[in-house]
Amino acid sequence: MISVQQATEIINEVPFRAGTQKVNVSNATGLVLAEKIFADRDLPPFHRATMDGVAIYFEEYSLGRRAFIIQGTQAAGQNQQSLLLKGGCFEIMTGAMLPEGTDTVVRYEDVSIKDGVATITIDNVEKGQSIHRKGIDAVAGGELLSIGQVISPAEVAILASIGKSDVSVCNMRPVAIVSTGDELVPIEDAPLPWQIRRSNGVALASALRMMNIDSNITHLPDDQQVLEKELKSIIDRHDVIILSGGVSKGKFDYVPGILEKLGVKKAFHQVKQRPGKPLWFGRSETKTIFALPGNPVSTFLCFHRYIKPWIEAGLGIERKNTHAILAKDYTFKPDLTYFLQVKIDMNDGHLMALPDAGEGSGDFANLRTVDGFVELPSERNEFKKGEAFPFIPFRR
Ligand code: AMP
Ligand code: MG
Repeated sequence: MISVQQATEIINEVPFRAGTQKVNVSNATGLVLAEKIFADRDLPPFHRATMDGVAIYFEEYSLGRRAFIIQGTQAAGQNQQSLLLKGGCFEIMTGAMLPEGTDTVVRYEDVSIKDGVATITIDNVEKGQSIHRKGIDAVAGGELLSIGQVISPAEVAILASIGKSDVSVCNMRPVAIVSTGDELVPIEDAPLPWQIRRSNGVALASALRMMNIDSNITHLPDDQQVLEKELKSIIDRHDVIILSGGVSKGKFDYVPGILEKLGVKKAFHQVKQRPGKPLWFGRSETKTIFALPGNPVSTFLCFHRYIKPWIEAGLGIERKNTHAILAKDYTFKPDLTYFLQVKIDMNDGHLMALPDAGEGSGDFANLRTVDGFVELPSERNEFKKGEAFPFIPFRR
């Protein structure tokens, strides 16, 4: 059986690059930028007043002048005007271009205006004050955003400001989700006493949706003929296939056998971990197939620990690894990497992980009380309060 580290390396060796598509900037939130973005002109593009007040030529002020004749008003959105009067000034509004011949703005609060004359009432005016200088934020042609950036409202504002109405983003074809199991009924159905509703398919689709990726869900029975026929067609139509269920040692766990029969080459089956030990992974030409154990917490963990980072890497997203600090001692004896469910609290800027293990890999109801998993290495049994471990979040 391979380790979690080996499984990660094998998966990450599999090449995957998402395609690209153009979207309007108003629909780009949460998508991943697939092109570099450059400033089309200086930011800001002109010396911009940052206060409502008067624009003066500082030298006059420094020579002792306090009363300035108002030549006119420079409003935002108005062509640049020129100061012609020596000892004159312009009234100026926030966002307006600084008039030629002026170099300093004094806000209205520090000016009194009477009979067309502005008198500055303070003695600590500084040259160049209250001006957002042309090109100070970015220069024309400079790189503003790089490939792999997840577009948040901040990036939307930048894209809009440089006139990028259509932007190239990563685009992944829909992922196939296939759940299996004769005990599973549609969520709309009233289950018989021995039946349960299918939750893994929609949970996986929801996790993909959080990454802005579409999916097609199919449910298949534990029937070799049906599995073979349907899986063949699903694999033909998708690049990435995620199965749940039917990969353990049970009499009706047909998935690995059928996949191999269909020419999917097994890369590994079983990982030294809990939950999710029966995880199966394989490839068929350009197709990548993850077959996850069906226990809901196993499915959930395997997706967030292996599949999500693999897709993110394929989208060009660079994720920093997060660590969380155990808030309590924890003991886990088996020689397996243990993914411990934890509730997260912030303390002094650190993520504090409070263990809440739940009742095993079938207890998906426990997921509602936690925020993610910490990864406890297999070589050890005792994990001490205050130690930091990799943290796998599943909430936004
Ligand atoms: P399996 O991996 O097929 O042996 O399934 C392990 C356990 O997970 C069984 O109790 C299944 O009923 C349950 N299970 C499998 N698939 C799903 C699913 N889609 N939704 C909810 N539970 C599932
Ligand atoms: Mg099953």
